[in-house]
Amino acid sequence: MSYRKFKADQLFNGINMLGNDEVLVTNTDGEVISIVNKKDAGDDVEILNGIITPGFVNTHCHLELSHMKVLIPEKTGLVDFVYKVINERFFAEEEILSAIDTAEKEMIKHGIVAVGDICNNTLSLPQKMNNNLAYYNFVEASGWLPAVAQARSQRSKNLYDEFLKEIPATSIVPHAPYSVSDDLWKYLIPFFENKTISIHNQEAPFEDELFLQGTGDFVRMYRMMNIDNSFFSPSKKSSLQTYFHKLSRAASVIFVHNTFTSQTDIDFITANKTVGQQLCFCLCPNANLYIENALPPVEMLIKNNCSITLGTDSIASNWNLNILNEMKALQQHFTFLQLEKLLQWATLNGAIALQMDNTFGSFEKGKKPGVVLIENIEDGKLNKESTSKRIL
Ligand SMILES: [Zn+2]
Repeated sequence: MSYRKFKADQLFNGINMLGNDEVLVTNTDGEVISIVNKKDAGDDVEILNGIITPGFVNTHCHLELSHMKVLIPEKTGLVDFVYKVINERFFAEEEILSAIDTAEKEMIKHGIVAVGDICNNTLSLPQKMNNNLAYYNFVEASGWLPAVAQARSQRSKNLYDEFLKEIPATSIVPHAPYSVSDDLWKYLIPFFENKTISIHNQEAPFEDELFLQGTGDFVRMYRMMNIDNSFFSPSKKSSLQTYFHKLSRAASVIFVHNTFTSQTDIDFITANKTVGQQLCFCLCPNANLYIENALPPVEMLIKNNCSITLGTDSIASNWNLNILNEMKALQQHFTFLQLEKLLQWATLNGAIALQMDNTFGSFEKGKKPGVVLIENIEDGKLNKESTSKRIL
């Protein structure tokens, strides 16, 4: 058997940052054989400058919106952003397919190996069937009016069946607390069993306001969309505390954004979670800066030992699909963050959240997680010039 052997300034194994004495040994297909000390590595070691890490896992993306790059202005706030996405997403099919291809190439180039991807149609399916990247497909259901619940759940089920035929890693997920009625939730819950479920969570301050008081910017959104909101009575609890129990059957839950999640919310879900359930918080800092000019409560999540993952969101709400850039944004705004921690979020935590840690996330024997090189790091910190690329 022939091998590839890699040694750089540092080797991140998915959990810890190892020193420069360690050599990663894989076969030529990228399957991990071992990590050995350089004195035992023999000949033909490839010497590189930078950090070697397993491939990145992007736990929140919307590949099907890739044609909307720079279409929506920055910092409009969530309501106007969502309204524009709904009304401006329709393009010629070939334009959308070509944008999906370009977006996937960008992800691969910068070291992403697996993606949790939101699906509202089948446009991304042909690309995914090329198996260039591993995908967990989140078929999204939404519908705020109770009267449309059955039709919307049937639509999602049909889409789910089409994805499931080709890619077993597929689930039906609620779009967001403010867009899924209790009636629609009832149809969705039976599909959560053993799946990874994602949900856009507390992306704006007025999400809690809706559930606590029945007021705020989402009420304006319903009016803009001619949705009669008169059926709705607020739970008088925060958004997350209102819907959390509905996710009890899921094996893994990815809460996406969490920009306005509070300590009380974390206390609540810690006390009420299903035994053995994997809960994680996907941060998409660049999308938060793009849409709301806000950032998630990183210190609070760390203090509570929450499992954190990273996502790019769609290119409609980000400047690019590059996990290293999400790490850069976090380190720039939260200067105490060590690269080792950010890399854990970008690799193994994401793989576990997507139930793909048999293959991805760490350099453990038998896994094939991709080999990525991060270059141009100064004093252990990322800077504007830092780049990442897939090398195997
Ligand atoms: Zn999203």
